[in-house]
Amino acid sequence: MAKKKVAIIGAGPSGLAQLRAFQSAAKNGEDIPEIVCFEKQSDWGGLWNYTWRTGVDASGEPCHGSMYRYLWSNGPKEGLEFADYTFDEHFGKEIASYPPRAVLFDYIKGRVEKAGVRDWIRFNNIVRDVHYNDDTGMFTVTARDTVKDAETVEDYDHVIVASGHFSTPNVPYYPGFESFNGRVLHAHDFRDAREFAGKDILILGTSYSAEDIGSQCWKYGAKSITVAHRTAPMGYDWPDNWQEVPALVKVEGKTAYFKDGTSKDVDAIILCTGYRHHFNFLPDDLRLKTANRLAAADLYKGVVWTKNPKMFYLGMQDQWFTFNMFDAQAWWVRDCIMGKIALPDQATMEADPKRREAEEDAIEDDYGAIRYQGAYVQELIDETDYPSFDVEAANQAFFEWKKHKKKNIMEFRNHGYTSPMTGKKAPPHHTPWKDALDDSLESYLQT
Ligand code: FAD
Ligand code: NAP
Repeated sequence: MAKKKVAIIGAGPSGLAQLRAFQSAAKNGEDIPEIVCFEKQSDWGGLWNYTWRTGVDASGEPCHGSMYRYLWSNGPKEGLEFADYTFDEHFGKEIASYPPRAVLFDYIKGRVEKAGVRDWIRFNNIVRDVHYNDDTGMFTVTARDTVKDAETVEDYDHVIVASGHFSTPNVPYYPGFESFNGRVLHAHDFRDAREFAGKDILILGTSYSAEDIGSQCWKYGAKSITVAHRTAPMGYDWPDNWQEVPALVKVEGKTAYFKDGTSKDVDAIILCTGYRHHFNFLPDDLRLKTANRLAAADLYKGVVWTKNPKMFYLGMQDQWFTFNMFDAQAWWVRDCIMGKIALPDQATMEADPKRREAEEDAIEDDYGAIRYQGAYVQELIDETDYPSFDVEAANQAFFEWKKHKKKNIMEFRNHGYTSPMTGKKAPPHHTPWKDALDDSLESYLQT
């Protein structure tokens, strides 16, 4: 019988988890399908593969990167560690808990270099279209090699979408933006906090981008940070030159007016207003439409597209857990494709995301949300041979992280946590985060 063919779209942490999952089955002597991973960028790592570009990339395609210089992990590394490849194994020593982007990129790379899966990836290949053929039961995938400027059209038994969902910005309009006497940009296009040294900045949004981009700007010398909330303030004990204000109403010249009638003159407005699940290469019958939430719509077990269960999505949930959750999903999808896990009937599949949504809606606080996603990770790994790990220890690292943020938002990254994989507690970093201006791998690994 001919081997099944599987297309993976994206070689970020989710797509790479899928490659590693198949490689680990092959290493165990199992007969795996033929795998092709399409990656539109010239290297792997997804968002962790930093680009200085904004707008369009070298090929004129929308730039995928949303990360910026000096970005450090916003959650403890103990919450995202791979169960099959620990930080200790990669770095040969224990490292501190909040690595900068370059350090995490190195870690992600290390595992897939060891697995030897780079040849499975077609770099500079952007998937332009996927459609399903009822008559053949196959998906036709159209991709363009942007270097060779050549198109491929091929049939696959399965498609796994791992293209991420923090890349297409959600850009709201407020009256006066078009005549604002300064710069208006979305977090997706933010690259370097030094640009805002000495400036008064206004941030819209109250989630991770708002908190972290504001903190970066503070660290690298912004004159003042004003954060406008449309729902509720973040409520941390901010530094003196940082204020939280009600929602923005309009802008006139350089002046921003807020809902409580107050105003502030600002030099730049940074829209930390989140991202959209955006799949311009998918037709309506295959396209996931979901809010950024823990229980994504229409996905059985969070991964199987219920409207056509030969298709899968990875990493589409909002994320407390990241790398090891993508692994749990990838191992599960692998086993489903390889016939080791059987799918239930259609009604059961459709009921599953609805039940998960209802359970998510009943969660009371962030601690409950962390437990909820931890339980989801546990559920998936219990059904495959992904190395089981102490998910409760990862939950605990997140709980401590939250408490440390509450205690001091500019110092939480100075703490260390216990690895759920090795049971060892991370050492403190050699320099407090606010004073560590060099975010290079070399600087971070110094002892
Ligand atoms: P991505 O990393 O987005 O990778 C998707 C890949 O798909 C990309 O390589 C892209 O080029 C490719 N692709 C997209 N479309 C196509 C196409 N049509 N054809 C071919 N290839 C395509 N998580 C943490 O755990 N810790 C953090 O500190 C953290 N910081 C973050 C900071 C920012 C600013 C953002 C935006 C996110 C952060 N995240 C963080 C969350 C992040 O989503 C995950 O860590 C992770 O990158 C998600 O992996 P992914 O593979 O699902 O998606
Ligand atoms: P997000 O979590 O989806 O939050 C979006 C924010 O935008 C919310 O506060 C929302 O407010 C606000 N918003 C949406 N529309 C708005 C509008 N019209 N006007 C005003 N506010 C509006 O998105 P995110 O903060 O960009 O985070 C995305 C991901 O990036 C997360 O996974 C995060 O962990 C990651 N990230 C990590 C780091 C780091 O590691 N250092 C840094 C940045 C981001 P409401 O609450 O009112 O809806």
